Amino acid sequence: MDKLFIQKCCNCSKYTFPQKFFCSECGSTEFNKISIDEGKVKEISVIRHMLGQKDWIPRKIANIETALGIYITAGIEDTAQEGDTLEIYLHNGAPIGKIIKER
Ligand SMILES: [Zn+2]
Repeated sequence: MDKLFIQKCCNCSKYTFPQKFFCSECGSTEFNKISIDEGKVKEISVIRHMLGQKDWIPRKIANIETALGIYITAGIEDTAQEGDTLEIYLHNGAPIGKIIKER
């Protein structure tokens, strides 16, 4: 399990995700890394087919709003609903949202 990082431009403070070499706002190549721990599910979609994949199992992805105001598309668990707050991490380089268990 890895932490998910987004880039914050050192020059104009714009947040960038996924990672880029240049800031789309000012062209700067200097970024600070900011870790993302959790976000709120805004919208859920189901990917039912994937080109070139015969044994594809339908999976849910969500548009997740982070506290920084930027949106991340992540794979989520089946039971996650819109409005849920999910823990976000990287799994094999892909963002994953996991339900924060209440105890
Ligand atoms: Zn910038």
